[in-house]
Amino acid sequence: MKMQSINPATGEVLKEYDEMTPQEAQAAIQRSHRAFLDWRNAGFRERADCLRRAAGILRSKAGDYAGLMALETGKPVRDGRAEAEKCAWACEYFADNGERFLLPETIDTGAGKSYVTFMPLGVILAVMPWNYPFWQVFRCAAPALMAGNTIVLKHASNVPGCALAIEEIFRNAGFPANVFSTLLIGSSQVDAIIENPLVRGVSLTGSVAAGRSVARKAGEMLKKTVLELGGSDPYLVLADADLKPAAAVCASARLINCGQSCIAAKRFIVVRSLKDDFERMLVEQMGAVKTGDPLQEDTIMGPMARLDLRDNLHRQVVKSIEMGAKLLLGGVAPEGRGAFYPPTVLTDISRGMPMYDEESFGPAAAIITAEDEEEAIRVANETSFGLGAAVFTRDLAKGERIAAGEVEAGLCFVNSQVKSDPRLPFGGVKDSGYGRELSGFGIKEFVNIKTVVVV
Ligand code: NAP
Repeated sequence: MKMQSINPATGEVLKEYDEMTPQEAQAAIQRSHRAFLDWRNAGFRERADCLRRAAGILRSKAGDYAGLMALETGKPVRDGRAEAEKCAWACEYFADNGERFLLPETIDTGAGKSYVTFMPLGVILAVMPWNYPFWQVFRCAAPALMAGNTIVLKHASNVPGCALAIEEIFRNAGFPANVFSTLLIGSSQVDAIIENPLVRGVSLTGSVAAGRSVARKAGEMLKKTVLELGGSDPYLVLADADLKPAAAVCASARLINCGQSCIAAKRFIVVRSLKDDFERMLVEQMGAVKTGDPLQEDTIMGPMARLDLRDNLHRQVVKSIEMGAKLLLGGVAPEGRGAFYPPTVLTDISRGMPMYDEESFGPAAAIITAEDEEEAIRVANETSFGLGAAVFTRDLAKGERIAAGEVEAGLCFVNSQVKSDPRLPFGGVKDSGYGRELSGFGIKEFVNIKTVVVV
């Protein structure tokens, strides 16, 4: 079987790769396990040095990696360089803080000695998506490797070039052979990998369907999982919001990565008194974004990553309009090559429409009108997802109360776009998954929290 890199801006096949056979994939797991037996005994300093060298490579070759991401996913090069930089930050953050997070904790029980220690688990399978083809991998791998685990990566099938480039970064950074390895396999091989007793945990970032499938198999095999799944993030615009900056943040939060981010703003819940002004400002902001060739330095939004994803978004838009939504901007799939889709704004979105009920993974904004704050909060929570959310209000105490206490989400920001940060835990509730990545919480997901008592 062949895997293909396809340029979503042109439809051109860039390169073909041989998929690993099941036997080759299982052999790679054996090698990863053997590497673990040494890596778990490497000190924190050695692991940190490797991560710091990886950060150096990411920075020095950021332009090359950005070009690769642009060609395989349509990500504008300026965003690709920022992504490489963020990966470097995560590597350095866990190099600097990993040992501190995993220091043994003494607990006084009256015994001679009693403490909790954090031991690595072994081979961790990372199943990752294409949307942030470097960042998704590094935010999983940097803490897991620092904790002493080894990683086998099954990356999305449309980014084999990125997957191999990441493997090369770890190799050139001096990580011992097979501590990080890429398996070029399709999703049909994932169950067999999870069944291998040497695999001790699975981290998946992707769709709800993929999460359910992996969780089912991992549950059967009693393996620890972390699932970072979809989102339908609500952005609540309350009556006392500072509207102009709020609309600017909303536009940028919707169009980030051509709308293909789990924490992109997906539903704008606006109180009725601001509806007309918000619609006008969002249309102005989203309509002004420079779209086009992702390899051009001044492009802000490139094509979507695949034609099928573009077609699915267009279906959601068209069906919602048929059901009564009003189109304010965009909404027409361009003729010609590439998976391009214009910035699109729909208003009067209501329950039952795809743009209300489903995750929209592309540059289309859904405006929902709420009569008041209470209804806005109810609508925000009226989704199966619970990843990110944002609240816009001049009353910071009220915003904080709603963010901390009312919205069902793993991350809730006031007057700001939701962002990941190596220092803060990242993850969701409900269908957005479970477990956390990043921060001191994330590094403890794939460790054995071991109690030691010496009497
Ligand atoms: P996807 O189809 O679920 O793919 C993600 C990864 O899972 C790919 O490596 C894919 O492999 C694999 N996969 C798919 N089906 C599988 C199965 N049944 N068993 C095992 N592995 C399977 O997701 P996507 O459409 O590429 O990515 C978009 C989704 O990811 C959105 O829902 C988005 O919100 C979510 N996402 C979540 C986060 C987060 O942190 N919460 C971050 C980014 C994206 P193949 O490519 O070989 O099919």
